[in-house]
Amino acid sequence: MSIGTKYIFVTGGVTSSLGKGIVSASLAKLLQARGYTVTIQKLDPYINVDPGTMNPYEHGECYVTDDGAETDLDLGHYERFLSVPTSQANNVTTGKIYQSVIDKERRGDYLGKTVQVIPHITDEIKSRIRLLGKTGKYQIVITEIGGTVGDIESHPYVEAVRQMKWEMGKDCLVVHLTLMPYLSTTGELKTKPTQHSVKTLLEYGVQPDVLVCRTEHKINKDIRNKVALFCNVEPAAVIEALDASTIYEVPLLMEKEKLDVVVLSKLQLPVPENIYLDDWKEFLHKLKNPKFEVKVGLVGKYVELKESYKSISEALIHAGAVNNCRVNVQWIHSEWINEENVEEKLAGLSGIIVAPGFGKRGIEGKISAIRYAREHEVPFLGICLGMQCAVIEFARNVMGKSDAHSTEINPSTSNPVIDLLESQKQITIKGGTMRLGAYPCVLNEESKVFSIYKQREIAERHRHRYEFNNEYLGDFEKAGMMGSGVNPQGDLVEIVELKNHPWFIGVQFHPEYKSTVSNPHPLFVGFVSAAIEIAGLSRKTKVTSKIDS
Ligand code: GLN
Repeated sequence: MSIGTKYIFVTGGVTSSLGKGIVSASLAKLLQARGYTVTIQKLDPYINVDPGTMNPYEHGECYVTDDGAETDLDLGHYERFLSVPTSQANNVTTGKIYQSVIDKERRGDYLGKTVQVIPHITDEIKSRIRLLGKTGKYQIVITEIGGTVGDIESHPYVEAVRQMKWEMGKDCLVVHLTLMPYLSTTGELKTKPTQHSVKTLLEYGVQPDVLVCRTEHKINKDIRNKVALFCNVEPAAVIEALDASTIYEVPLLMEKEKLDVVVLSKLQLPVPENIYLDDWKEFLHKLKNPKFEVKVGLVGKYVELKESYKSISEALIHAGAVNNCRVNVQWIHSEWINEENVEEKLAGLSGIIVAPGFGKRGIEGKISAIRYAREHEVPFLGICLGMQCAVIEFARNVMGKSDAHSTEINPSTSNPVIDLLESQKQITIKGGTMRLGAYPCVLNEESKVFSIYKQREIAERHRHRYEFNNEYLGDFEKAGMMGSGVNPQGDLVEIVELKNHPWFIGVQFHPEYKSTVSNPHPLFVGFVSAAIEIAGLSRKTKVTSKIDS
């Protein structure tokens, strides 16, 4: 089917955190399941050029694409749902928009003109939206507008949506997500916040075509009709979005509500009869009916905000489902672990992950946790800084280099087992200058990782500045830590593993970014399966507790 690209905008009203990202990803999944090629883009109204310079407490995880964009964590949901890679063009921020408009102004592209929000900023926004359509790869582009309608920051984006709707008519559609709160005192669902937020959109000149209403209770026909009448949408376009036990249920809830059918009809696109969701349903069934349960520790310094490790916890959910296992993640603060209490803090875990991170805080706790995993033969996965800490721990406690460290933490160590490459030493600008994006890695055929990946060459995504120091490689190998994956261009060690341990792997890259529902990441699948084995679980093990995700 050859069609011009259609554009769907997803806006949000009433409050933040209603789950626009999940609704956008669910709609995209349904359209994909009906045979359309879809991508999702996020427009973020903050002035940072990208979230790479933000602390995870501010913004949650920074997600990285194959082409090295540091992006909003919603892009992770898009990839996990669709299994289609995103790119630089899929995340646009106000910082990026203004940067390019100001660059153009300095070049003289607007010579003679006053540069203004309308049309210059809005034109730049529109061109970024159309960029994905122009690739010719997608029949439908879904653009999620960050923030809440009415915020000062979102205004230029909503104005760009108004203009695109006016210019493109039926090729554009606006889905507005709102909250329908339940008042327990009167036992009623209230529609007023939805009405008000649609009024705000109308003040900006945008009439939403579809309303998705987040609610704890079912919406009856009367309420649908009332919302439809007050908000000027068809009753069938008032979609109920009930709270779900897992985000992976949302596409099926949206399918029941016919969100995809309403959207396709409004865009004047055919609604293919077949919708292929068999694999998705099988995954969900496994997720909700686990046969085993394992307790896995995630050691990190941002554990108060679980969004900081979103992709890791989702990768564990995918890997758990494949293994018919509920992965019960224990969030362990690295600052609270030391050599004295580590046994007590980590007792009873069947697997330990040491998380990525930057800086000194909590580093010794991570190193103690790794020592525990190594000595007690608990399956261990170290990710990025977690891998670097595994190298430091091994150098200190096995190779006897007691002051071994990363020069990120101790620049004057006499054993810099983790260090900066010469090329990184010249860099003074912080934003966007780490080793970012996908790099190839060749696996040693004798290694555990080769038996896990079952292929010689892999590509994984990176986000770090420091590297394993190759000067020490020979010593490490002699002592029993193997460099089992190497970047073929620079001979950089990307994976380390222990020979005398049931499952001990550290990776310089971030495997979690590539785990999706249809392609759970082999390292996480292998890790969970090792945890099941160590826990000595038999097929008879029952899981009774309720699942959450
Ligand atoms: N801070 C380390 C580095 O820059 C690790 C980064 C990470 O864990 N993503 O190399």
